[in-house]
Amino acid sequence: MQIQQALQLIRDVPDFPKPGILFKDITPLLSNGDAFSAITEEFASFAQSSTVIAGIEARGFIFASAVANNLSAGFVPIRKAGKLPHESISAQYGLEYGHDELEIHKDAVKSGAKVLLIDDVLATGGTIAAAIDLVHRIGGEVTHVLALLEISGLSGRDKINQLYPQIPITSLVVS
Ligand code: AMP
Repeated sequence: MQIQQALQLIRDVPDFPKPGILFKDITPLLSNGDAFSAITEEFASFAQSSTVIAGIEARGFIFASAVANNLSAGFVPIRKAGKLPHESISAQYGLEYGHDELEIHKDAVKSGAKVLLIDDVLATGGTIAAAIDLVHRIGGEVTHVLALLEISGLSGRDKINQLYPQIPITSLVVS
């Protein structure tokens, strides 16, 4: 399946989880095997050799683990607060609809490891910026950020570019 065809399966759900939010529902894309596979292969093409694939809870896990498996690369979870069992560090951030906190295991990547970071939606950029901060604080280097969909009106790309001008950001569709 063509990437554009796969992306057309993303569904808009108005007023979820709060009034005024247009939620980008990726479940129709995920339930279509050809579409999921096309996206996984496209994302995997951005990995350098020996790249670790990091995903952000929860929907980023789906793509990051599929990409890691496709490349026989390691997968690193960046989780919501209180979920990781071992010694962790945390970062707080603002969301399009609230506040949240992400954590990563201190020993999740080796010092200097190249990390490809994946999430489903880039909105205000707070989530991805916090995830980059976590990877860098444990000694990894984020080499590329991938998002399935970018909401351009929220300027998340600008926020990340200002903080981390050296990190390329690729989103497969901008809405
Ligand atoms: P942000 O930190 O504002 O860039 O928000 C990105 C995170 O929130 C991603 O992990 C998304 O899963 C989720 N998110 C934010 N806005 C939306 C939206 N309109 N539709 C679906 N997910 C969203």
